[in-house]
Amino acid sequence: MHRAGAASPGGGGPDPRYGAPMDTCPECGNAALQVRSAGTARIHECGLCGAQFGDRDALAALADRAAAAQRGVPLPIWPLVRGLEALPGLAVRDSQAGGLQPPTLPFVELGGADARVLVQLENLAKSLQLGAGGLRCHWVVEVEYRRHLAFVLKPRHGGGPVAVEHARDALHDLDRLRRNLERDVRLGWWRHAGEGSDR
Ligand SMILES: [Zn+2]
Repeated sequence: MHRAGAASPGGGGPDPRYGAPMDTCPECGNAALQVRSAGTARIHECGLCGAQFGDRDALAALADRAAAAQRGVPLPIWPLVRGLEALPGLAVRDSQAGGLQPPTLPFVELGGADARVLVQLENLAKSLQLGAGGLRCHWVVEVEYRRHLAFVLKPRHGGGPVAVEHARDALHDLDRLRRNLERDVRLGWWRHAGEGSDR
């Protein structure tokens, strides 16, 4: 018997739709529900209306995968890209997740969409500094010229070949960076930065 959500720790609370047995789609009544796996969890998807049911984290992971693919952003760096894109005045122009074979480092190239960019960059730099203790790499925002003025978030690298350990550490940091960002954007110092200077 399938009760999606029933066997899902950390599902974030009950959703009334999850109470129904999953042999028919609660949205459209279609009797042919397909099971898809999302990471370690499984979700049910209606082949008729496309509705998806299951553990909230699994659904979020699946939505992340789809959004990343649609945007052409590598999945490991997508949550960080999404967080940066949400900042007013910043635009994500390019990103790479890096990898181990061959060892390459991740980066996110940011551009300024409007005058708010400097405040957001200052906040981002502050967030990096505050979170440095929990990061394996030394992350910086470098100003570069890439056909336009670009601000590149990346782990500091002295040049030459990238060591595989460095690439692994940088990949490991991506999730922590994203969580630091999600935490800091809600804090007063971030939300109220720059206030008064633009009036
Ligand atoms: Zn349906």
